[in-house]
Amino acid sequence: MRRLEDAEETILIEPAKNAPPEFQLESRIGLFYPTALDEDKDRIRTGTIFYDPYTTFWIKCGGETLPFPPDVVLAHEMGHAYGLSDPPTDQDYLTGQCIDTFENPYRKEKGLPERPCYGCERVKPPSPKPEKPKAPRPKR
Ligand SMILES: [Zn+2]
Repeated sequence: MRRLEDAEETILIEPAKNAPPEFQLESRIGLFYPTALDEDKDRIRTGTIFYDPYTTFWIKCGGETLPFPPDVVLAHEMGHAYGLSDPPTDQDYLTGQCIDTFENPYRKEKGLPERPCYGCERVKPPSPKPEKPKAPRPKR
C-alpha cells in the first residue's frame, strides 16, 4: 500500500455511475481502467477505479456464496492499479495475483470469508433464513 502512496501515478476513484457505458458496470462489480503506460516501470499505472460505494454485491465462488462489500471491491481494484492481475484473463498485467495479494488479506483483516477463486459469478443476495413457524399458543 505504501508503494501506491509514494508512486508518481495518479489513481482516480470514481463512482460506478460515472463510468462510460462501454465499461458495462451494470454487469460487473468494479473496474480499474488504466489510462497511461507504465513509463517508469514500477508496475503502478495511472488510471481510474470505478466502483459502487453504496452496494454490497454477492458472488458465488466454488460452491460458496460470499459478500462483496464496496470496500472489498475498492481493495481489489487497488490491486489492479498496483499492477496485479486476475489470471488467466488479464494477459496485459504483470506478475502477481490480485485476490491473493490484495483482496484476501483485506477480507481476513475485516473478518470476512476469503475468496477462493477467480471463476466467480455475481449472484443475488441470499434471502434471509425463513423463520421457524411459531408453536401455536396452548388453548385454555
Ligand atoms: Zn479483478
